Amino acid sequence: MTKIPKDKIVRSLKDQQEIFGDDLFVPKDSLAKTSQKNYPEKKSGVEKIIVKEPAIEKQQLFQDSGESWQLASLLDELNKIICDCKKCALHKNRNKFVFGSGNPNADVMVIGEGPGADEDAQGLPFVGRAGKLLTDILKAIKFERDEVYIANIVKCRPPGNRTPLPEEMETCIPYLKKQIELIKPKLILCLGLTAAKGLLKRKESLGNLRGNVYEYEGIKVMVTFHPAALLRNPNWKRDCWEDVQKFRKLYDDI
Ligand code: URA
Ligand code: SF4
Repeated sequence: MTKIPKDKIVRSLKDQQEIFGDDLFVPKDSLAKTSQKNYPEKKSGVEKIIVKEPAIEKQQLFQDSGESWQLASLLDELNKIICDCKKCALHKNRNKFVFGSGNPNADVMVIGEGPGADEDAQGLPFVGRAGKLLTDILKAIKFERDEVYIANIVKCRPPGNRTPLPEEMETCIPYLKKQIELIKPKLILCLGLTAAKGLLKRKESLGNLRGNVYEYEGIKVMVTFHPAALLRNPNWKRDCWEDVQKFRKLYDDI
């Protein structure tokens, strides 16, 4: 029997927890009710989409007022001001700060979790294997990569690609919010639960967030799988395909 490394098993369980929520870990007999495919099915068709109000009160954009980056009026200017940030512990292990990349006037923003090893080495988001898959996904719905803007919830790589801690996310997210404010996209696609939780402050599983349309500061937001999860679980690609087709339809309709 081939030995599967422990970190792969842990990652895979985390993927499943992300998608199903904690229900995965309830006793066996209550799992019997789940569908054959073993993950929540979403009905196709954009008419099923519902716009939900944000779960929390509109947050004050910046909790820590009086910092010069808040006054930036251009992305490059913002990048220059914040690229040496040491506000959270993630700065300690970073090689490169990963601000984001793409069209500064994009209609579509794609938001991931945080840099991995390749991104940390190059200073650019989604340039590794998951990034290649993201490029293909975007192409499949007729978006060129440089037409959209890609950024992450945290700008520095979490050690060993662990999920960023809540306090790291909270510290870094104001930068992402400022990016969104400057880019003014019409639509946002969150990749994975960390991105969705970070931006929308919602507590549902990915399985329940998928297929719906949410709003952040008046901008429509949809959520789908993180491409790294798709690399580990290729059987989720089909559902991702359905999600991104809905996303494209939403884009075409606005
Ligand atoms: N995964 C992410 O969430 N972001 C990246 O930039 C790369 C991989
Ligand atoms: Fe600063 Fe964000 Fe990097 Fe933390 S992750 S050091 S808040 S840029």
